[in-house]
Amino acid sequence: MASDKTEKKFENPIYLGVKQDLDAIGKGMCLAKWTQVTLQLQSGHNHSCHHPKTHKISQSEIARNPSALHNTRYKKMRRKEMLSGARPTECDYCWNVEDNSDRFSDRVFKSGESWSYPFMNEIFNSNWREDYNPKYVEVAFSNACNFKCSYCGPSYSSKWVEEIEQYGAYPTTDNFNSVEWMKIEDKFPIPQREHNPYVEAFWKWWPELYRDLHTFRVTGGEPLMSKDTWEVLDYIIKHPNPNKELKLAINSNLGVPDNLVDKFIDKIKKIEDENRVKEIVIFTSVDTWGKQAEYIRTGLEFNRFWNNVNKILTECPRVIVTFMVTYNALSIFNYEKLIHNVYGLKDTYASIDRYWSSAVFLDSSYLRYPLHQTVQVLPYNFSENILNQTKLITYYAAPSFDPKHIGYSDVEVQKVKRIYDWMIAPQDVNQQIVNRYNFYKYFTEHDKRRGTNFVKTFPELEEFYNFCSTINL
Ligand code: SF4
Repeated sequence: MASDKTEKKFENPIYLGVKQDLDAIGKGMCLAKWTQVTLQLQSGHNHSCHHPKTHKISQSEIARNPSALHNTRYKKMRRKEMLSGARPTECDYCWNVEDNSDRFSDRVFKSGESWSYPFMNEIFNSNWREDYNPKYVEVAFSNACNFKCSYCGPSYSSKWVEEIEQYGAYPTTDNFNSVEWMKIEDKFPIPQREHNPYVEAFWKWWPELYRDLHTFRVTGGEPLMSKDTWEVLDYIIKHPNPNKELKLAINSNLGVPDNLVDKFIDKIKKIEDENRVKEIVIFTSVDTWGKQAEYIRTGLEFNRFWNNVNKILTECPRVIVTFMVTYNALSIFNYEKLIHNVYGLKDTYASIDRYWSSAVFLDSSYLRYPLHQTVQVLPYNFSENILNQTKLITYYAAPSFDPKHIGYSDVEVQKVKRIYDWMIAPQDVNQQIVNRYNFYKYFTEHDKRRGTNFVKTFPELEEFYNFCSTINL
């Protein structure tokens, strides 16, 4: 009889086949090193995939060859390792999964994606020295942003840069958002107003890159504050993608001035009407409901945000909106309202004649860093709130027999359950004391710098906040 271990491995025959194909080349082979890239042009960093640390792009390489934004010498050496049967150290995220469990790692899932798998043979037969055009590209053109969310930082927000330049790092034990580490890692963002050689190289590479794209996602900063995002949209309008399969995704906080939201809707409508892409997804962010959501994401005007979501869904009938939630310690009191109202959007916008049966998704991921703001900082009894949210989202789950899938999908439900599991997981008690000390230090300073009032906004946490103020390290 097969052991449990073997049975688990054979659970999914499609991925098993992908794994066998990869392993025939080597146990470290992964197509994502060729097919996927995240470009952080504001600092000239990139990585493939998003698990390994980013590495710096060489300015002299991109001056000769703009595709070296992705095809860096460093990355080619990792590809050489993969093609010769080795496991690159930087991919330890996957090796940890493979060495310590029976699960498939992301190298199998990413290699099995529709933007990877069809290219397996050409990659297997390629030389590690060759340049390769990625199919799944995420790009941040700049860190220009009108928000400064509590868990974000200067790499991704120019507002955060302004604050840290004025007041310095936060007085937590880890000097939260100190810019020193960015200087050490050569990640200090180039301000949008200055010439950026990485953005220049991107535009030189773009016509060739565009031809082969499967998915293109613009992140930031706030992409709608970057002129390059508008140039991308105009380019797509003017130049139909030859393979007609392009999936376009844009992140936006939907808190930019109204004229930019309207301009965005106009461009999206044109792209839709002229069938320029196969799919458009707008990823937006919110972490709970109302005033508490505004506290977490400085710059957010909740009602205007919600109106903008409705406006996009009404005016752009093919667009999909995904709420990316960074579920943190301050999300837990009003998350039910978000679950309830996102269900309302699913219902409203699935009931009209949409191209897609489901137009709205809730992607609930839990915050891991900074440690002082994760749900694990809170007393155990608050896990009850999350448990109730798992019950509510299960209540609103789509019946499997419903072809319209108006309710929440299994993935959406499971992601909320995962937050609960993570909150109640065992913790290092000493680390938790430090995190609680930092919780008080951070939010006290936040109130001082930004004119907010933590206790008034989160009366449910007054007792805990006062307890944290008594901790001495
Ligand atoms: S092996 Fe894993 S970490 Fe490395 S690129 Fe592939 S998916 Fe990413």
